[in-house]
Amino acid sequence: MSYPVTYHCPRCGAIVELEREGYLADKSVTPYPLEGWTYADADGDIEAADGVRFVCGADGTLRDDDATGCGDPFYLSYVRFEDGEAVEAVPESEYVRLDP
Ligand SMILES: [Zn+2]
Repeated sequence: MSYPVTYHCPRCGAIVELEREGYLADKSVTPYPLEGWTYADADGDIEAADGVRFVCGADGTLRDDDATGCGDPFYLSYVRFEDGEAVEAVPESEYVRLDP
């Protein structure tokens, strides 16, 4: 069973909305992909990957019709398990922490 969930773009704060299966747990939303994770496009098979690659404002996922987005990609990563343990991750590029 899927239901809509929303995320903030870590670059510009725009809100994206996605239909998601309930069993998937979110780990983080970052401007860069995590090493070892695979990502599906937001309109692709998002349950088959370890996360979703959004293109802010360009992939039709923005929740508000009058929002435009920043046009840059960002990454939703699910919690990933190996041998029953949640995998820790480091971003592939420098991680930019944005204060809320
Ligand atoms: Zn954005």
